[in-house]
Amino acid sequence: MMPLPYRHLTSMLIRREGELFLFDAGEGTQVSIRRLNLRWKKITAIFISHMHADHVTGLPGILMLSSQVDREEPLYIFGPPKIAEFVDQNRHLLDMYINYEIIVREIYEAGTIWQGDDYSIRAFPLKHTKMCFGYALEESKRPGVFYPEKALALGVPRGPLWSELQSGKTVRLTEGSSIKPSEVMGEPRSGRKFSFVTDTLYFPEIAQEVSNSDLLICEGMFEHALIESAVDKRHMTAHQAALIARDAGNIKKLGLIHYSPRYADRELKILLDEAREIFPDTVLTKDRMRFPIEFVD
Ligand SMILES: [Zn+2]
Ligand SMILES: [Zn+2]
Repeated sequence: MMPLPYRHLTSMLIRREGELFLFDAGEGTQVSIRRLNLRWKKITAIFISHMHADHVTGLPGILMLSSQVDREEPLYIFGPPKIAEFVDQNRHLLDMYINYEIIVREIYEAGTIWQGDDYSIRAFPLKHTKMCFGYALEESKRPGVFYPEKALALGVPRGPLWSELQSGKTVRLTEGSSIKPSEVMGEPRSGRKFSFVTDTLYFPEIAQEVSNSDLLICEGMFEHALIESAVDKRHMTAHQAALIARDAGNIKKLGLIHYSPRYADRELKILLDEAREIFPDTVLTKDRMRFPIEFVD
């Protein structure tokens, strides 16, 4: 929550099927993005949790950096009220050179804010000192496994009919009978899910929003002995982040984020140990750490 010489502010970048999504942009986020060496491409959309400096002051730099790549598509920015004013005022006051369209959408309530072909992004309200949202990117279900031997047994010859079945279409054979995808394929398989939760007071309903996440990035700002201070400032302890991960169900990995500057890096182990007592698959996130998110089946 405070930049330290060896620890930047909060930001998460998701790279999925050629698209980049940025969640929060603390001061200096562009420096980290450059150091990631991703062969820098366009960010499709940016999602801001709330209008506190440690989550948005990196945005102007990202907008300017984005002018260095050719793009036809607009850049979308989502966030709570005032995000539009923040972007407009920065552009205006700083005479920012922006050579692409920026579309800002303010969020006021829970709901799907982004619909891709086979995934969607949902915003849900958190409880902080000002309006704040968590986000979850969730892929649609994928078709089940295709069984060639079943198709052959039913008389469907190898070829274009197989791909039609795999894409969910019923096919008709030359002798007139029709074969449904469910006859040659397994149950639909779940897609992947990523959730991002910071800054907030602990409340149990967060768990429902983030359930089934392959990766949950969640604020774990304090050790549990400081719970009063956490509640007071409307933040969470690492223990509470772990409770959310445990209660949500089917969370593969919890990554703690947004540490208090009172903890030097080696002291962060206190937070990790407390979280792991409740949810063993917890890690401390670090600058430019990468998490591959694979399909489970
Ligand atoms: Zn913060
Ligand atoms: Zn905050």
